[in-house]
Amino acid sequence: MNIKLRSILLIIPLALLVILFFSQKKQTNNSVAASDINPQFDIYKANFIEQLWAVYPLWASNQGYHKYDSILIVPNNASRANELAFSNANLDSLKIFDVTLLSDNNKTDYYMIENQLKTIIFSINELKSYEWNPSDYNVSGAFAEILIGNYDSLDVRLRNFNLKMANITAYYEAAKKNINNPTIEHSLLAIDQNLGGISVFEKDFIDSLNKVTFGEHERQMMEANARESVKAIKRYVLWLKTMSNKTPRSFRLGKDLYEKKFEFDIQSGYTVDQIYNKALQHKKGLHEKMYTIADNLWEKYFVNGEDVSAKLKSITKPTDTLQLIKQVIDKISEKHVKPDEFQSAIEQQLPVLTDFILKKDLIYIDPTKPLVVRKEPDYMAGVAGASISAPGPYDKNGNTYYNVGSLSGWDKDKAESYLREYNYYILQILNIHEAIPGHYTQLVYSNQSPSLIKALFGNSSMIEGWAVYTERMMLESGYDNSPEMWLMYFKWNLRSTCNTILDYSVHTKNMNKKDALHLLIDEAFQQKSEAEGKWKRVTVTQVQLCCYFTGFTEIYDFREELKKLQGNNFNLKQFHEKFLSYGSAPVKYIKELMKSDLKIKPN
Ligand code: ZN
Ligand code: ZN
Repeated sequence: MNIKLRSILLIIPLALLVILFFSQKKQTNNSVAASDINPQFDIYKANFIEQLWAVYPLWASNQGYHKYDSILIVPNNASRANELAFSNANLDSLKIFDVTLLSDNNKTDYYMIENQLKTIIFSINELKSYEWNPSDYNVSGAFAEILIGNYDSLDVRLRNFNLKMANITAYYEAAKKNINNPTIEHSLLAIDQNLGGISVFEKDFIDSLNKVTFGEHERQMMEANARESVKAIKRYVLWLKTMSNKTPRSFRLGKDLYEKKFEFDIQSGYTVDQIYNKALQHKKGLHEKMYTIADNLWEKYFVNGEDVSAKLKSITKPTDTLQLIKQVIDKISEKHVKPDEFQSAIEQQLPVLTDFILKKDLIYIDPTKPLVVRKEPDYMAGVAGASISAPGPYDKNGNTYYNVGSLSGWDKDKAESYLREYNYYILQILNIHEAIPGHYTQLVYSNQSPSLIKALFGNSSMIEGWAVYTERMMLESGYDNSPEMWLMYFKWNLRSTCNTILDYSVHTKNMNKKDALHLLIDEAFQQKSEAEGKWKRVTVTQVQLCCYFTGFTEIYDFREELKKLQGNNFNLKQFHEKFLSYGSAPVKYIKELMKSDLKIKPN
């Protein structure tokens, strides 16, 4: 969830709800056969979400729920007290339900609601980023959302936009009161992001006003409000730039907070120390396997290969193992598509992946739900690559798109460097990860057991872990058994592995920038620009970089455990389909439910 969102003081009629459920519970206990409590839990969930949106209107708008579009909550003690009251009251309401009597879908929803509420309490009482992270305060995204959306007429949206602007000055004044010893990194980020958002009020809003026929008076009033909003943002930025901050807080979270945040955000069955040690071990194993492959490929590419220039320069085989791996990777990266073939190469690969999955019987792919491939929309332009856009939880009829970037207009060097990164091999792994059987396939399965709770609080570690798992699974199933593909895959897998090592080391072990760049460039074979970008990211985020490797490890370990337990009865296709049937829940709960459904005793 987005902890940037703040709330208004709202009294929620929870007492009524609690009474209702207490009487239900009594009935259940008195009756001989316990009645099904799932319908009551469904009612509770619907009420919970209604309350959630009242407390977090910005989040609601972002998810496509527009009842509270006109409201901007001022982030102060009162709003935080309201969030805490909401969370504590709902934790109490949850206790009324006996989780063992809930359906599998509701069990995981129960745990995910509980975790969300505890996360809110932890964020306010312990993490306290509202004190040290000035980039928590930024209104432009939510306002831009109102202009982009087409859920209502432009007239209605602009009037909501205007009402929402009324609190912007108070919003930033409250922000200044909250902030105390901010980190330098988050202060700089806040300055950049807030300045970047000004155009929403200065340009986008005014452009939209020109498309409607409001009266002159109303229009002038709205334009004046927009000018006031811009002033409030600029005042905030100036305040950040000139504030005296002699003892800024470190951007490093520290072990205690990091461990807790890891538990709330990732919800892993492993502790963060276990994951960190697994990542170190995994990196070591990858390096060993990569060395064996690179050593074998050296002759093919540098001695017998057609690369005359290499022979003329009489390149000698490096004695350093990492150097040797790097040179072979660089050489193999030269096999890539032309800039104008980037999109068509991606499109052509999807049916190939589907055919392979069918042939090897890896997982059922619903043929009635083909992925709609499209050129990425303008507002995403410049990122290239490929990504999945799924409709929001309130947009049931929306299409799921595979956005494919275009390299047109890129200068030659930039395009070449990008295409080497997304070379012939990596491009296929990217398609597996993003589309089939990665994110897209997971999404199709999760839609079969619809849950608004999972759509909103979907576990990032399960979602990313699945995509990372499928890369490995496809290669293990023989998708491309060439040493080149395996070497490239290992390099790709090193990225998520080193993300975890980096995040943990920086936030809990004081890793400095020099050592971080060594890890990413020398040990994970990344370009300097990519490594610099990752360093910047790790200084302004915490834990998020761990979700890929953690989810991957949990799913992979679980599969291997089941293989042992089930022996000859293990079936890969059944494992995949059963695993995905629980939706985007934390792997540790899926594991528990799956074992119980498969009648495997917990160990
Ligand atoms: Zn090239
Ligand atoms: Zn992903």
